[in-house]
Amino acid sequence: MNKNTKWLKYIVRIALTIVLIYLVWPVLFVFKAYLSDSSKPYQANIPNGYVNDASRLDLTKVDTVLTISTDSTKAVQQLVSLVKYVDSTGKKVSIAGARHSMGGHTIYPNGIQVNMLPFNRMHLDESKKILYVQAGARWAEVILYLNSKGYSVSVMQSNNSFSVGGSISVNCHGWQNNSGPIASTVIGFDLIKANGEIIHCSRTENKELFGLVLGGYGLFGIILNVELKVVPNREYKSNRYVIASTDYVSNYAKYVDGHKEVEMAYGRLDISPDNFLKEAILNTYTADTTVKGILPLGDPTLVAARRSIFRSSVGSAYGKAMRWKAEKKLGEFASSKAFSRNDLLNEGVEIYEDRDTVSTDILHEYFIPRNKVNEFISAMQQIIPADSADLLNVTIREVENDTDTYMRYANGEVFGFVMLFNQAKTKLGEIKMEKLTIDLIDAALKSGGRYYLPYRLHATREQFYKAYPMANEFFRLKKLYDPKEVFNNLFYTKYN
Ligand SMILES: Cc1cc2nc3c(=O)[nH]c(=O)nc-3n(C[C@H](O)[C@H](O)[C@H](O)COP(=O)(O)OP(=O)(O)OC[C@H]3O[C@@H](n4cnc5c(N)ncnc54)[C@H](O)[C@@H]3O)c2cc1C
Repeated sequence: MNKNTKWLKYIVRIALTIVLIYLVWPVLFVFKAYLSDSSKPYQANIPNGYVNDASRLDLTKVDTVLTISTDSTKAVQQLVSLVKYVDSTGKKVSIAGARHSMGGHTIYPNGIQVNMLPFNRMHLDESKKILYVQAGARWAEVILYLNSKGYSVSVMQSNNSFSVGGSISVNCHGWQNNSGPIASTVIGFDLIKANGEIIHCSRTENKELFGLVLGGYGLFGIILNVELKVVPNREYKSNRYVIASTDYVSNYAKYVDGHKEVEMAYGRLDISPDNFLKEAILNTYTADTTVKGILPLGDPTLVAARRSIFRSSVGSAYGKAMRWKAEKKLGEFASSKAFSRNDLLNEGVEIYEDRDTVSTDILHEYFIPRNKVNEFISAMQQIIPADSADLLNVTIREVENDTDTYMRYANGEVFGFVMLFNQAKTKLGEIKMEKLTIDLIDAALKSGGRYYLPYRLHATREQFYKAYPMANEFFRLKKLYDPKEVFNNLFYTKYN
């Protein structure tokens, strides 16, 4: 073999190794995650007589789960009779929509849990652009209906799995920039009060209850029919800006503030340990108002690949770095395509959910004033590695001042940092998550921010009252409207 051939072989070997490292290895890594993933969606193993929520850590024995009738008139009669019966017996009622809260907000031990999901009818008044929808309807059902009429939801979460009643009771928010939380889009609703009476609440009728029920975690009554503002379903084109995380706010100001054509926007941070929270992607969605008519509703794309890439990052620095690279590449692919607002909103949380029985994904969210965003990112960079937490995702969404609800988290314009962590379903897993939550809440409070209430109840009472200084008055009013504490749940028992 001459010298040249030897060199050629050597170069080919190096080239093959590079191809293996950069192409084949990531594919094998994700394929391994795909193979070890359960092919079936998570099946909650809930014994008869028990309930749980999205945390999978709140298994609790209850007296009864009342699934209401699919006949709306009968359902309302059932609910009124239930409330009157409970009022006279001292039993408690907790209210459940899609049960995606994570701290027992839908649960009371030995209480009666009402399953509102069958209460899901709706109709649209196109002349007023108002959707009349029953509280048990899930966004997946709402989007399907509105899409057929050329409309979309004004403000909702980033996924379609939640019920209307649960969404307005936590006062949800999503990727809709230049907008307050969902409460700003609620015109009114009917409510069964603790004495069984049905009343209508709006900004002019029963105004106090209107603000208490929105973001009121089911503590003031059962929401029945809701009137929601809707918006046209538009075709969107997306733009992406890969930037330093410290430049997030200045880029947001440049590309989103004052841009009426940008109807949705959110950011994501790099979670790979070697570059922890240093890089960001700002995604903006611009409406093409020239495209008219009813747009087809597509199915979510690349579901298996996106799920496997996401789940391969659990507990793996390599997986996290690879995911960030893939996000940049897949994002480029997505941004070259046009899709509708409803397409963007119509994805279930099940796509990424943890199907493992020994671990669970837990959400946190912190609302930080614009001028403190960098201070909070820097606190996250310290706290999360120090507490050895497995951070899987961070998104950033802007929320405008909330002028409607009593227990408001958007006390002025804020940027919400939504973080998803993976934890073991063990005592140690709980202790570690509690410490992490307390540390992050302290950082949010220090930055003049608040934390979101539908998640685990790890905040201390002191932190809760510091974040929500109106809580004392909120609970005083709760006892005024519901003296026997008919409507009850684990969130209320911990903090009232
Ligand atoms: C994977 C995941 C992603 C999430 N993403 C977001 C997000 O993008 N934005 C966001 O803001 N939040 C988000 N959340 C948080 C959150 O739990 C939901 O916004 C909301 O609670 C979901 O609605 P639900 O139907 O599951 O409510 P549930 O969990 O069923 O109920 C929530 C609260 O509402 C009360 N309630 C429900 N129905 C009624 C009714 N008819 N009358 C009176 N009270 C009622 C319940 O008693 C409870 O206190 C997310 C949660 C998960 C698990």
